[in-house]
Amino acid sequence: MVKNHIQAAAEIIKESKYLIALTGAGISKESNVPTFRGEDGLWRNYNAMELATPAAFANNPSLVWEWYSWRQGLIAECEPNPAHNILVKWEEKGILKTLITQNVDGLHRRAGSQNVLEVHGNLWALKCVSCNYVGMSNAPALGIPPCPQCASHLRPDVVWFGESLDAGIIDQVYIELNKADACLVVGTSALVQPSASFPLIVKKRGGQLVEVNVEETSLTDVVDVHLLGMAGNVLPSLDSLLD
Ligand code: NAD
Ligand code: ZN
Repeated sequence: MVKNHIQAAAEIIKESKYLIALTGAGISKESNVPTFRGEDGLWRNYNAMELATPAAFANNPSLVWEWYSWRQGLIAECEPNPAHNILVKWEEKGILKTLITQNVDGLHRRAGSQNVLEVHGNLWALKCVSCNYVGMSNAPALGIPPCPQCASHLRPDVVWFGESLDAGIIDQVYIELNKADACLVVGTSALVQPSASFPLIVKKRGGQLVEVNVEETSLTDVVDVHLLGMAGNVLPSLDSLLD
């Protein structure tokens, strides 16, 4: 593993035939998206573990929706940052094939990324608790939104504690991991499974890994290049080395 060799990272990206990216909460830090962990995570003395669960929603759907509505309002105020924008540019240039994100803030899509696999869902996505309805909202929820198909309750289409990931999305993720010859890992602590193991699958198949983070993580020892820094600075610098 080499540290802070941005030229080496640029070579990996240039030489790749099928580059994918995995992003986490760190890429949205510079957009001021709250982390909903620690101090940021508190809302009226509840923490995320008490609200982001199927049991919480079954017991008190209005309370859970109030919290989501508040979060939607906060995220509506945030804007994509240069790191999100560089990933859009690389997709448009054909360099980046797929973007896998753990973020639920929807900022990759707002920035313009098209080929995004949101493994933990999206704060603006809705699904019915009773039927197969799925949809998107464009404004913070006012109360519990009713299902347009069956009038039952809609819930946020995000993965809650104790729930498994969407099997269809995970299937697509594994298809991409098995095509990739390089993976750029940005702003994830690599602690949450299964996402933490995605880069290892690429590596095992002989692919190259580039990590961008303001700290070292459990992945740092296995990546080919680790770039220490803020995503919003490092990605534009990398981009300037690609032409
Ligand atoms: P995490 O909070 O565990 O780790 C964030 C990582 O980003 C850390 O390693 C940190 O050092 C790094 N980082 C911080 N600022 C950075 C910057 N400016 N540039 C580059 N790196 C930076 O996040 P995770 O690994 O995504 O796991 C968190 C879980 O919580 C996920 O399940 C995710 O769904 C959820 N979550 C989502 C959001 C969001 O949608 N924006 C925010 C918080 C948490
Ligand atoms: Zn329904």
